[in-house]
Amino acid sequence: AKPHVVVVGGGYGGATAARYVRLWSGGDVDVTLVEPNPTMISCPLSNLVLGGSRRLGDLTLNYDGLARHGVRMLADSAARIDQAKRTVVLASGSLLVYDRLILSPGIEFLMNALPGLTAPGAQEQVLHAWKAGAQTTALRAQLEAMPDGGVYALAVPPAPYRCPPGPYERACQVAFYFSRHKPRSKVLLLDANEDVVSKGPLFKRIWRECYKDIIDYRPGFRTVDVDVAARTAVSELGERVRADVLNVIPPHRAGAIAAQTGLASANGRWCEVDFRTFESTRAPGIHIIGDAIQTAPLMPKSAHMANQHGKVCAAAVVDLLVGRPPAAAPVLTNTCYSFVSDRDVIHVASVHAYDPAKKTLLVVPGAGGLSTGASALEGTYAFSWAVNIWADTLG
Ligand code: FAD
Repeated sequence: AKPHVVVVGGGYGGATAARYVRLWSGGDVDVTLVEPNPTMISCPLSNLVLGGSRRLGDLTLNYDGLARHGVRMLADSAARIDQAKRTVVLASGSLLVYDRLILSPGIEFLMNALPGLTAPGAQEQVLHAWKAGAQTTALRAQLEAMPDGGVYALAVPPAPYRCPPGPYERACQVAFYFSRHKPRSKVLLLDANEDVVSKGPLFKRIWRECYKDIIDYRPGFRTVDVDVAARTAVSELGERVRADVLNVIPPHRAGAIAAQTGLASANGRWCEVDFRTFESTRAPGIHIIGDAIQTAPLMPKSAHMANQHGKVCAAAVVDLLVGRPPAAAPVLTNTCYSFVSDRDVIHVASVHAYDPAKKTLLVVPGAGGLSTGASALEGTYAFSWAVNIWADTLG
């Protein structure tokens, strides 16, 4: 029989890995992808739904391309992993036996860090919209229902979190919507970090130049609780900020299945891997990619990176299955575009190369860089980036 690779999670990391194991093994490896959702809804571009220039349907992608590559799709969830027996028990009760397992489960929110959010019904009122889907459209509906003159507050968790520039892009998108439809309204950014985590000078300049009377940035506001009835964020220092629409991104960690399997060894939150193969440092035969990993220095938790992890991991898995040594020093790239209006965009790009002495990926000096300012030309690049990464990830 052919070797069998099981992939858990059909997001940016998992779908890419599944596709490339099939491609690079020439079809000589069987691949099963376990994913409960029938479609992939892209987080990249989902802030545009809040700004009103895109709909969720524009970002909803199907898995037909993976099936065409011979990936066996299972609409199920991984419930338990037995490392010794090399099996995955699914929520439906069925059992998969693997030669190598690739986990790309994304993130799990630490709701207990915000006790008010654990009350019944609380999470339907104070949304995160940090996994694109029903919450994205629900948050858009809250913004549409808010009267002009209202306040939208966004609580940003301490880094590292999914998509470093994402909250600041979101602030721009909501401010863009307000500037056109509710000009007396405000965006309040309550940032647990001491400064803007990504593209700081660029975002701050755009806020000054384009959204001066709309966006109010408050660094060092670490949200530790939420009073849901009063739509109030409570900081570590006891400050209370009330909003008409309160949007809280809870702190998060590696997706539940990884943590539950004992793989989230870094602060109990993220999974440590060997960056040459993305094999867990804890569990031989299990590879972990995407947002769930403890990242290398300056490596963002991004879709672009998850896609790159997926490819390095797929190449290594195919090599290991045929008894070839995996590449000794992989090089990865990242580009994150942020929409500051419905068409103007800024980007940050970086290149990350494996350093055998330090056993990690390090940013290559002089490679990559930042936009000098927002432009519509970069907007066209950003939409092309999305179309291309969707094709590369899903086939
Ligand atoms: P995901 O894409 O979240 O996929 C995880 C999958 O695993 C999910 O489909 C889930 O259903 C599945 N899963 C979880 N547990 C199980 C289980 N037990 N069994 C089976 N399946 C399971 N990145 C960029 O590069 N560019 C951007 O412009 C960008 N914009 C963003 C904007 C927003 C608002 C947000 C929130 C994120 C953005 N990102 C962006 C970040 C990007 O979305 C993530 O980094 C990326 O999705 C990570 O991929 P992943 O495979 O780790 O996780």
